[in-house]
Amino acid sequence: MGLFRAWRYVASLPLVDVGELVEKDVRLVLLDRDNTCVPRDASSAPPEVVAWLDAARAAGIGLCLVSNNFHSSQVGRTARELGVEVVDHAMKPAPFALRRAMRLMGASPEKTVMIGDQVFTDVAAGSLAGVRTILVRPQSRSDLWYTHIFRVFERLALRGVTFEGE
Ligand SMILES: [Mg+2]
Repeated sequence: MGLFRAWRYVASLPLVDVGELVEKDVRLVLLDRDNTCVPRDASSAPPEVVAWLDAARAAGIGLCLVSNNFHSSQVGRTARELGVEVVDHAMKPAPFALRRAMRLMGASPEKTVMIGDQVFTDVAAGSLAGVRTILVRPQSRSDLWYTHIFRVFERLALRGVTFEGE
């Protein structure tokens, strides 16, 4: 398991199988916000994401946003709308925020999964925190300027990878 190697690759968050997560003993899902839950060109999560979060909650899985977005009010609003906990200013790929989220939610790394759309922040942070990771495709093509640069290297890192649901 390399730093940039995800546990699973799935086309989008709503396509992640909640039943399978439960089967694999996942009790906590840490969620990236931008382009995983909320498209960067929108202000709120689409209904499929809301429905997925409801299904995960109903299955007894804890949910916490772990976001690098420096607009705390935006991240906080999303967390309230989605009814999930939040750790902002995460500074992924540093693992500290993920550890903070696990402490907050009372879950061990073995029972935690990080889901996000970026290899060099979400997957790397998950690996460093010792949790399983699921990489999803970004919801929109809109990204911060520096993310566009990372995307070039990401394409190289993802050569030969197939995403479930594509
Ligand atoms: Mg993202």
